[in-house]
Amino acid sequence: MADCIFCKIAAKEIPSSLVYEDEQVVAFKDLEPQAPVHVLVIPKKHVESVLALAEEDKGLVSHILVDVIPKLAKELGVAERGFRVVANTGEEGGQSVKHLHFHLLGGRSMQWPPG
Ligand code: AMP
Repeated sequence: MADCIFCKIAAKEIPSSLVYEDEQVVAFKDLEPQAPVHVLVIPKKHVESVLALAEEDKGLVSHILVDVIPKLAKELGVAERGFRVVANTGEEGGQSVKHLHFHLLGGRSMQWPPG
């Protein structure tokens, strides 16, 4: 989608610190990391948010959650101690980039409730 920064990252039109890529997904380091490990996992396809997911996206979402995030958590060394997966959605959810993304945060103790 034109003017979507994450579409441009997925298309390699703007640089990022890529940590993973396959046919459906890319993962890259967050520009402003909030934890020692802070990676964003995004679909290459433009989907605005969790709310915009459709029936046809079920395979994509399960690929991200079942295959990609656990694999990255292990590779990035946070699987054993624990980590957090966050999909901020909409204005009050704190979503600033309108392209679905899953934050994978780890390497420190997380607090609850979130801010
Ligand atoms: P959210 O606020 O949940 O929409 O998360 C968007 C995230 O994208 C923030 O954590 C930003 O730091 C991150 N971000 C924005 N632009 C870039 C970029 N060009 N490369 C890497 N991370 C980015």
